[in-house]
Amino acid sequence: MPDGCGPCLTDLLETPVFSDSVLLYHAKGVILLSDYILRASVVDRKVSTEPFCRAFAASTRDLVEEARVRHNTSPVVTAALGRLLTAAAMMGVTLKRDDERLVLKIDGDGPVKTLLAESNNRAEVRGYPGEPCVMIGANDKGKLDVAGAVRGYCAADGTMGGGILRVTRKGSGGEPFTGTSELVSGEIAEDLTYYYAVSEQTPSAVSLGVLMNRNNTVRQAGGFILQLLPDTPEEIIVKLEARLSALPSVTTLLDSGLDAEGVLREALSGFDVTVTDKIPARFHCGCTRESVERVLLSLGYKELMSIADKPVEVHCDYCGSDYEYTREEVEALLKQLPQA
Ligand SMILES: [Zn+2]
Repeated sequence: MPDGCGPCLTDLLETPVFSDSVLLYHAKGVILLSDYILRASVVDRKVSTEPFCRAFAASTRDLVEEARVRHNTSPVVTAALGRLLTAAAMMGVTLKRDDERLVLKIDGDGPVKTLLAESNNRAEVRGYPGEPCVMIGANDKGKLDVAGAVRGYCAADGTMGGGILRVTRKGSGGEPFTGTSELVSGEIAEDLTYYYAVSEQTPSAVSLGVLMNRNNTVRQAGGFILQLLPDTPEEIIVKLEARLSALPSVTTLLDSGLDAEGVLREALSGFDVTVTDKIPARFHCGCTRESVERVLLSLGYKELMSIADKPVEVHCDYCGSDYEYTREEVEALLKQLPQA
């Protein structure tokens, strides 16, 4: 099989099944997934037996790679979208109800224009970039210039552009709730830290990373989110800040062989970390031929009739799937609709 298409049945037969992995049975075969989200509570026993922090960690290499293949993204867009998908997967597991969705949307002045990632409480994520094939040079650290792709640069003076991050929680009942903040970095993790501070008044540390192979497939992806609980003693905050400021990047830690739990324990070295939940994560859109038919029916008789003179093609932005309906199939749908 070609590089970058993710594990498939052929690989599985040659690959030992690790205990951490999740087997999903699809119509196309058996796919081995190893991505997951961890939830943990954190205690500083020298100060208190009460947790002071909610922690999330993510291992997301396979789902970011799947997003890359589905949307045929260039490396800098893979990194940007992968970071946002990783954050969405961690944030989504806090949703209380199964029908709720968490949507992260960035609209920036940069060439990628828009990034969207959506998740649920089962760590199923989907998402897409506004422009999948952005090619820009590395930043001054020699890394993929995610901030440049998201915020862009002013042609006149080279200063960075701006943008908005929107975080929406929506479900089948009740009005969607959206919080908004300005982009302060464009590197996404810092923007989410800022969002938590100004929109949710929650002191947080967010770290996200995607590392690419030379052949432009995803080598590592993951991250963590730490959220301080109210009334955390100052001495704990000082200790945590000192620890995080000395921490290597997430991709460095993942590439050294640590898994997401190892990264989290490294970030919280000196504290007691108790993992409370481990949730398999995957790229999953949920669109089906039947759900697309419902969208076509929702157009109504007149509008559907106006496009029924040739086969109808429908593209799912979230996952890149294409659906085609023959004229006969569209006519069958029209028969279900009142000719008002
Ligand atoms: Zn889809």
